[in-house]
Order: sequence, then C-alpha cells, then structure tokens
Amino acid sequence: MRLVFIGPPGAGKGTQAERLKTHFKIVHLSTGYILREEINTNTGLGEKAKTFMNDGQLVPDDLLLEKMNNRLRQDDCMEGYLLDGFPRTLPQAQGLDSILEDLNQSLDRAVNLTADNDELIRRLVLRGQKSGRDDDSPDVIRKRQQVYRDQTAPLIDYYRRQQILTEVNGIGKISEITDRIIKLLT
Ligand code: AMP
Repeated sequence: MRLVFIGPPGAGKGTQAERLKTHFKIVHLSTGYILREEINTNTGLGEKAKTFMNDGQLVPDDLLLEKMNNRLRQDDCMEGYLLDGFPRTLPQAQGLDSILEDLNQSLDRAVNLTADNDELIRRLVLRGQKSGRDDDSPDVIRKRQQVYRDQTAPLIDYYRRQQILTEVNGIGKISEITDRIIKLLT
C-alpha cells in the first residue's frame, strides 16, 4: 500500500498516519519529522531548512525531492509507505511521480483529511502548548494555513484528476477517524 496524506496543518495527518502504519504494516514518512531530525543533528539540510520552517514557509522543493528520492529507495519502503506532509506543492507531486515511475511504483491513494478552520486552529494552539514546536505559535500557524491554501490545496485536484483521491472527514474521535479511513481504503 502506497499512500499520500494531504490536508491542512492540524487536520490530524500525523496522528492518523501513526495508527495506519501499524494497521497496514507500512513505513510512515513524515517530512516535517525528518526535517526536524535534520535540524537536531545539525546536518546541512537541517541548516538550510531551519529558517523556512521557523518562519512557517515551505522548504524549497529541490531539497525535499532530493531527500525523498533517496529515502524512497531504501529497503524498508519496498513493502509500501505512507507519506505525511509530502508532497506539499505541485512540483513536489510531479517530482514524486517521476521517482515512482523510475521505481516502477504507483500510489494507491491520496487521502485528504478535512476539518473546519476553527477546529484546526484550536488543535494547533493546543499542540503548540504541549509540544513546544517553534512553528505552532498563532502567527506562524496563520502563515502555514495560508501557505497550505496557496501551495498545497491544488494537490487535491491533481490527485482527483489521477482518480486516486479519497476525502475523509477528520472531525471526531481519533479511533473513529482511523476506522473511517481504513474502511475507505480497503
Ligand atoms: P509538518 O510537521 O508537516 O507540519 O511540517 C513542518 C514544517 O516543515 C512545514 O511548515 C515546512 O516548513 C516544512 N516541511 C515539511 N514538509 C515539507 C514539504 N514537503 N515541503 C516543504 N516544506 C516542508
């Protein structure tokens, strides 16, 4: 099973991805997590990504595509994966398609988790208080939402045209949402 998760910040992609990876026995690759690790271990990529992330902006496409091109070729990805937070722009989606073509693979589904704006802000502010993530402050949250609307939302149509889009209501109990997604994917 090869899945892409799209959806605005706070929709619950990370939470659901963690649960689905166990269910489908596939790797969960969160580019936000990967980038935070790169920052914590002081790599060149981390150094380049840091300013963009703290400012609520996207890290440049070529950096993400290079990283994911390497990552998706590793052994643990051969049985399937769930991409959480990647692709985030049309060039990334096109780049991912080229990587997949090269690997003789294709995506099974792109899942769009949805939630209304008030709920998203409520969750992100709460997460900011708990996690201490630098980019979960109200100002940066607003910026990340705008970036999502401008650069990531067009992916919904991109995957709809490929006829692999599945839209899921991301409001409700965490376990109910997981069940909803599994039902739609199997
Ligand atoms: P996330 O944990 O998915 O909310 O990602 C946190 C931050 O990491 C984002 O606001 C971006 O700055 C950066 N990031 C994560 N994934 C990507 C991506 N696919 N393209 C560009 N930037 C990304």
